[in-house]
Amino acid sequence: MPGKSMNANASSGVGAGGAAPLQAAWEAIRAGLRRDCGARTFDGWLRPIALGAHDPESGTLRLELPSQFMADWVQTHFAERLALAWRAALPDVRQIVIGVGAAAPKTAAVVEIPAPREEPQEAKPGLYAVALEPRYRFENFVIGKANEVAFNAARTLAVAENVVFNPLFIHGGTGRGKTHLLHAIGHEFHRLRPRAKIIYMSAEKFMVEFVAALRANDTIQFKQQLRAADLLMIDDVQFIAGKESTQEEFFHTMNEIISAGRRLVISSDRAPQDLDGIEPRILSRLSWGLVADINQADLELRLNIILKKLEALPDVSVPQDVVMFLAKRISSNVRELEGALNRIAAYATMQNRVIDLDFVTEVLASTLRANQRRISIDEIQTRVSEHYRIRKAEMTSARRAREVARPRQVAMYLSKQLTPRSLPEIGRRFGGRDHTTVIHAVRQIEKLRSQDPELDSDIRLLTRQLEG
Ligand code: ADP
Ligand code: MG
Repeated sequence: MPGKSMNANASSGVGAGGAAPLQAAWEAIRAGLRRDCGARTFDGWLRPIALGAHDPESGTLRLELPSQFMADWVQTHFAERLALAWRAALPDVRQIVIGVGAAAPKTAAVVEIPAPREEPQEAKPGLYAVALEPRYRFENFVIGKANEVAFNAARTLAVAENVVFNPLFIHGGTGRGKTHLLHAIGHEFHRLRPRAKIIYMSAEKFMVEFVAALRANDTIQFKQQLRAADLLMIDDVQFIAGKESTQEEFFHTMNEIISAGRRLVISSDRAPQDLDGIEPRILSRLSWGLVADINQADLELRLNIILKKLEALPDVSVPQDVVMFLAKRISSNVRELEGALNRIAAYATMQNRVIDLDFVTEVLASTLRANQRRISIDEIQTRVSEHYRIRKAEMTSARRAREVARPRQVAMYLSKQLTPRSLPEIGRRFGGRDHTTVIHAVRQIEKLRSQDPELDSDIRLLTRQLEG
């Protein structure tokens, strides 16, 4: 029942100047809110509000809450009502800012106080919990084989009139664009339905808030808030799975949200069935919707992502061979790729250097090393035996004939060069040979390489193939 408090408070208007009138006005406003909203809401969300600084010049008053989550909630549900109440109570307050107590003042949101109305409206619905990253939009998301299913699902969920599937479960390894897609859904949903209520939250944050609500005996309120969202998105749900105390409550809440026909999007670094210790009942509920994975980006997608990111860096000129080099060598995930590009751009500007292969290899030395493909001894044995057209079994056999002994030595040599395995371990993998045999092979091949151009080119070729 919004509205009543405004009139009630109007009579308590106090003159300007000093903190005492502020405090008096605040007491009156609080009394009105308590009457109108009920003890539960008041105790949970409004009582914790503390009066912050008042700047008489701009007429701005800060209202502070203990956490960002609470500040966002109050912002969404009570900003307008609080603003009106203040305006009615104390004309000196022309604008209120709702934020977190001194710890995080810069994240506060500003509310313009509207001119008093006869009938104040309900608090305006809107984005909630965390502001969406402006860069993370569908337009900035590069589509490829690895992510097109997830992309299309995300788009459909954001755009479709009616709920087509629920929930949408997006999973994939780190840095592949899950968070980007969730934010993009939020932006698009908001663009199409400006009044819809959208909640985006990391699962970690959800957990913290949920535990706080449990302690305060206020989970009903908390769940009601979630259920009231038209679109609820929970990122990185793997943080909750396995934490038994919150997990069950969490998935029950999810269940209720799905039943209420609200759109739910969940992201996770693994598939639903790989989440730790989730009840089969809940698992099947999650799988009712659409499960879409994001795979590792292939070369083409990596190339397109680099080109797209370079569009945003018009001052940075990156030659074609460097673009190709990066796409080939930084294959672990998109975040790394992005980081590498930013680093190159920053260093090139700072040191006033031309971006070429030498420069890039230097700047990205550690990233490139970390992205090197892990080569296994087994792969080396396969490649080498193919190359010399011998059976792979000869790699571990006891035969000493030259036509198998030499390739075996080459394979041992490559194992030493291309894997982090120790000499004894390599020996074991070659039919249980002693580590001195491996040392001998390595020395032998090193010597022969310098004398025999054919062997040298064999080894170069094999190395290139193995490094992919
Ligand atoms: P995740 O949440 O899966 O760990 P993010 O969504 O945080 O990954 O993505 C990491 C970075 O890579 C972000 O800056 C994001 O914009 C970018 N990114 C990932 N995939 C793509 C893509 N397909 N197109 C453009 N940028 C992408
Ligand atoms: Mg993420």
